[in-house]
Amino acid sequence: MGATFWLGRVAGIRVGVHWSVLVIFTLIAFGLAEGRLPRAHPGGALWAYWLTGLVTAAVFLLSLLAHEISHVLVARRNGVGGDEITLWLLGGVARLRSEAPTPAAELRIAGVGPLVSLVLGGVFALFTWWAHVQHGPVLVVEALAWLAGINILLAVFNALPAAPLDGGRLLRALVWWRTGSRLRATEVAGGAGRVLGWIMVAVGLYEVLAGGFSGGLWLVLIGWFMVAMATLEGSQARLRELLRSVPVRQAMTPDPVTAAVGTTVEEFLGSPPWRYRHSAFPVTDDAGSPVGLVTVRRAGQVPVEDRGSTSLEAVMVPLAEIPTAGPDDPLDQLLPTLDASPARRALVLAEGRVVGIVTSADVSRVVTWLSSTRPPGAGLRTVP
Ligand SMILES: [Zn+2]
Repeated sequence: MGATFWLGRVAGIRVGVHWSVLVIFTLIAFGLAEGRLPRAHPGGALWAYWLTGLVTAAVFLLSLLAHEISHVLVARRNGVGGDEITLWLLGGVARLRSEAPTPAAELRIAGVGPLVSLVLGGVFALFTWWAHVQHGPVLVVEALAWLAGINILLAVFNALPAAPLDGGRLLRALVWWRTGSRLRATEVAGGAGRVLGWIMVAVGLYEVLAGGFSGGLWLVLIGWFMVAMATLEGSQARLRELLRSVPVRQAMTPDPVTAAVGTTVEEFLGSPPWRYRHSAFPVTDDAGSPVGLVTVRRAGQVPVEDRGSTSLEAVMVPLAEIPTAGPDDPLDQLLPTLDASPARRALVLAEGRVVGIVTSADVSRVVTWLSSTRPPGAGLRTVP
């Protein structure tokens, strides 16, 4: 996702905020400070309304973060790597490195999010009651009650059985478990997602016509997003089904030319071993083990006068940020990480050595072959 600020790491998970979160933060703070709080308790100071509104909006974003972090932590425990969370306009996105291996794992990974939101809602409800009994400041009681409500709403909405919501994944796990077909399960959850999405769009449009402009527009936006996501997930699932039968070995460029980590940028950009052959090269240490990947574009960004004194180590993408696979792994496992990786390439490793490199274009080529050599109608309508 573009225009994302990286805030830092929580439990080793990179946490980012998309600029659109500022919109939701502002809407919530404004709605509380100028709407709900003065309506419930008129006559207070303006700064008190705004302070409560701003703090409450921040706590709400933290609740959202807790929900997403729980997905990643449970995914890790179930053998699915995950290391990135982005908050944006319509909630959070946890990026997982692969798909859940079994329906039970899918159930746990998807289920924990709404559960965390529900528990948070309960905790805030308890705080509300306690602050009320203790005769705490009325604005604080009001804010706690709002946080309890919004977290419970978040849990209920996310549990709706429609993709791409958590409930859609629960439905998918159930159908997958009953039918044994992951693709069939994805299609059922996706169909439910499109139906719910269009219902939300219709209700939203009706509300807009009936005069509830901002609330209606919000519903239309979320509904439309759900339809788009459910459709995209469906086509990705069909694509994965096709690529599951192809080993990485068959798509990769074998034995790529590598560059030693101590090579200067000047040498790299000017020497025959690398010139014109590819636009990215694996970087290896003295023992020949891979340590990263350097792209010609990134090396070319080093000012000419610094190129003689800058080594590839300074401009390469470190190995930890590059997707890797074994030569006999199924190609579909690389899909989610390949497009998200900074260099849009994956390294194929065997026994600690680079044996190949895979680009998005390689995967597209395999897809073209598979879809052209299959009988018409046998899957794949769109390629994301
Ligand atoms: Zn969730």
